[in-house]
Amino acid sequence: MSTILVAGGAGYIGSHCLWLLRQRGYHAIAFDNLSEGHRAAVLGAPLIEGDLADRAFVVKTLREQKVDAVFHFAASCYVGESVTDPAKYYANNVATTLTLLEAMREAGVKTFIFSSTCATYGEPVQDRMDESHPQQPINPYGWTKLMVERMLADYSRAYGFQYVALRYFNAAGAHPDGTIGEDHDPETHLIPLVIRAGQGLNPNLKVFGDDYPTPDGTCIRDYIHILDLAEAHLLGLEYLRKGGPSTAFNLGNGAGYSVLEVIRACEKVMGKKVPYQMVGRRAGDPARLVGDARKAHSTLGWTQRFGDLSTIIQSAWKWHESHPRGFDG
Ligand code: UDP
Repeated sequence: MSTILVAGGAGYIGSHCLWLLRQRGYHAIAFDNLSEGHRAAVLGAPLIEGDLADRAFVVKTLREQKVDAVFHFAASCYVGESVTDPAKYYANNVATTLTLLEAMREAGVKTFIFSSTCATYGEPVQDRMDESHPQQPINPYGWTKLMVERMLADYSRAYGFQYVALRYFNAAGAHPDGTIGEDHDPETHLIPLVIRAGQGLNPNLKVFGDDYPTPDGTCIRDYIHILDLAEAHLLGLEYLRKGGPSTAFNLGNGAGYSVLEVIRACEKVMGKKVPYQMVGRRAGDPARLVGDARKAHSTLGWTQRFGDLSTIIQSAWKWHESHPRGFDG
């Protein structure tokens, strides 16, 4: 049986995708160096501990495990940190991915599902953010993901790689049964920080800016449930297996919520007040980012099962309530 290698399979998005693949009967294994991932997040799936930058080890793994497709989630993912420490991002996200692609080429594995981002678009220059929106990142994180998209396009033309790049808007929520969820250190994402503020574990929740040109002055984002994201990866693989041409897809709900709307929605789900403080803008935050995912719907047949914000927050709340210290308890 051929195997799917989930690089970064012990991380937030990778672990949910790994779970869904296995639940659907695919033979999928995790590859992770556990620098940011969690052993417990693979839920008993085979985990190969290793570094993607170790080309010889990756080639050996691809061969021994009879891998025929790689899902690549292993990356550094903090926009702010990418500005202060770009070297880390170019090393982890670009150089390491090049090593992975070269290992795949050596081992004859040519199918690649790539975790990309709406940060490759930069500041919106048109209302509809579909895949044809200009890609002009405004931070090194976005640049690193765009560079990999470029490499994939060139590898596809020159070496016959097949790939799907999935440009996520705001991944959020957790497995509905509460077994796996978001556990970043440090946590920078809004929904877990709001929930932790409601739990009394984050007394310093800050809302970054109330002077944006939006109805309540706070930034608007498009939150998409982690299992809906995962589903699109499986559909992307099947699309490539049926001979679909390599391409990129946006993954978002097409609905935008402001930071204050997210706080109110969390308060409602948790039945608790969330204390917060209004502070100045965070550098590099566009006012509104809402994705147009019609291409994923029409080409992949993708539909969301957990589309509305309160369902997303309920799943996150279940995870945080049962794991107040993340995977450590
Ligand atoms: N945000 C905030 N306070 C926080 C974290 C985030 O006000 O402690 C805002 C942030 O400015 C953005 C939105 O919440 O407008 C979503 O931020 P997040 O970091 O979750 O995702 P991003 O949109 O940066 O990928």
